[in-house]
Amino acid sequence: MLETTNINITDAEWRIMRVIWALDTVTSRQLIDVLGDSMNWKPATIKTLLHRLTDKGIIKAEKDGNKFIYSSVMDESRTVDLASKKFFNQVCAKKVGSAVAYIIDESELTQEDIDKIQDKLNHKQAVSKINCNCVPGNCHCE
Ligand SMILES: [Zn+2]
Repeated sequence: MLETTNINITDAEWRIMRVIWALDTVTSRQLIDVLGDSMNWKPATIKTLLHRLTDKGIIKAEKDGNKFIYSSVMDESRTVDLASKKFFNQVCAKKVGSAVAYIIDESELTQEDIDKIQDKLNHKQAVSKINCNCVPGNCHCE
């Protein structure tokens, strides 16, 4: 099982994951067809990215004759959630609120999205004080 707090997907690997989630299962040939030209990636690059994602436990490879079929171990929305959480864990706890507000501001949202966010906010328990979690000297919090 993937260490959920350890999710670490590079920008290039995200491109691969988007295709895998869209197609459910892919061969390296399919990825080369979809991404080779648009990303200007050589087949070897795509194979390296597939190996890295397999090593990380994010996708799995199953042998089918002389080729491998790749599929995701993790579903897309869960992975996006974990990657967002990981990102927010990297910034000062005191700055998370304004970062969330910025994301809301900058994002295109449907009424359904807005209703969902509003509902979350209505049920969110506020804390009286956020303690800075920064390494001393890494922020101007105190
Ligand atoms: Zn801080």
